[in-house]
Amino acid sequence: MIVVGAGPAGGIAALRLSRAGARVLLLDKQALGRDKPCGGGLTPRAWMDFEVPLDDLVVARAGAVDVRRGSAAAVSIGLGTRPVLMVRRRDFDRRIATAAGEAGADLHDREAVTGIDVDARGVRVTSNRGVYHGSVLLIASGAEGSLRAGIPLPAPATNSAVALEVEAPARADQLHADRVLFDYSISGGYAWAFPKGDAWNVGVVTVRRDIAPRLRALLGAFVEATGIEFAQRQRTLAAAQGRRIPLHDPRSRRAAGRAALLGDAAGLADPFFGEGIAQAAASGRAAAATAMSVLRGEQADMTAYDMALQLGMGAHLRRMAWIARAVYAMPRLAVRALSLAPARAVAGRLATEPFRLAPPHRRATL
Ligand SMILES: Cc1cc2nc3c(=O)[nH]c(=O)nc-3n(C[C@H](O)[C@H](O)[C@H](O)COP(=O)(O)OP(=O)(O)OC[C@H]3O[C@@H](n4cnc5c(N)ncnc54)[C@H](O)[C@@H]3O)c2cc1C
Repeated sequence: MIVVGAGPAGGIAALRLSRAGARVLLLDKQALGRDKPCGGGLTPRAWMDFEVPLDDLVVARAGAVDVRRGSAAAVSIGLGTRPVLMVRRRDFDRRIATAAGEAGADLHDREAVTGIDVDARGVRVTSNRGVYHGSVLLIASGAEGSLRAGIPLPAPATNSAVALEVEAPARADQLHADRVLFDYSISGGYAWAFPKGDAWNVGVVTVRRDIAPRLRALLGAFVEATGIEFAQRQRTLAAAQGRRIPLHDPRSRRAAGRAALLGDAAGLADPFFGEGIAQAAASGRAAAATAMSVLRGEQADMTAYDMALQLGMGAHLRRMAWIARAVYAMPRLAVRALSLAPARAVAGRLATEPFRLAPPHRRATL
């Protein structure tokens, strides 16, 4: 089995496959312990039943979500016993990839895949260091990857958001260190502030192409409005990194023959929050399960994996797309609606509900 990309999608797939006894090659073009522009917020969907211990990586726990629009008072949505856990991506991703290595995966970091070739018998992967042959290929190369050219899939959906994010030591006396803040003042998106222990992670995101060039100015205004005091404000804001978030599109296909796309490479981020870690990890689990049945000869290809994703998370992601359309069309009304307890209860459920991905043998009969 060959897995390309050691983020949460590829890392979890490699870990699961290795624990199940498969021979796994895990390739990543960057060094182990690389950072990734990301809020590092793990909803219960992401952290529940996680494969490796995370407790020592958690730098803050947010037990509530504050939602507001501009200077209006925030509405607080309690998350009960299921907080959002804050981690640093370099530590989180390293923990998973290291566990995959300890379980037996052959981990090659600093090795970029440059070409792939898939046919009915197997896969061939070319990197800057060599050529490898395997029975199944899992492509988890993230948002910027262009590797899908080698597999017979229709062009991907181009539904995406653009986000700008930075994390640095800061004080924030006007904010709560145990809550996340979402501010819906940005057209087609929002601004966020995530507590990270002695640091804060702030960012802005939008689906609107015409707003994207203004994101840096909007981030500065948000930091000003929230009273977050970075030690070196100008330098910190200048260091903010922009990235594309590929949002879920139900028309996209994610498996072709013995190859499959996972996580951001598959466009699985939710169209409202841009949450993607939970889907990355869930796609890693589902892909590993189907790949094992291919290896055992129970299934001919990775089709069941795509079906599992549709059944396990399709409804949630379609619902989030619908909510995004409604909220971005009427942000003021949407935030005001949260003053009603039933609306807050629904929002709390949406933030914490886990995915239910069935094992591949059940999927095949659905
Ligand atoms: C600004 C921002 C904030 C976000 N905040 C959150 C958040 O708070 N919570 C949340 O749930 N989601 C968040 N997301 C989304 C989340 O970061 C992604 O959905 C998630 O990282 C996807 O994981 P992945 O494993 O698919 O890809 P990645 O984590 O991007 O990993 C892909 C890996 O593939 C490697 N790779 C790429 N090309 C090659 C190649 N050719 N050869 C070998 N290796 C290759 C890369 O080096 C990388 O290590 C955010 C996204 C952005 C941009």
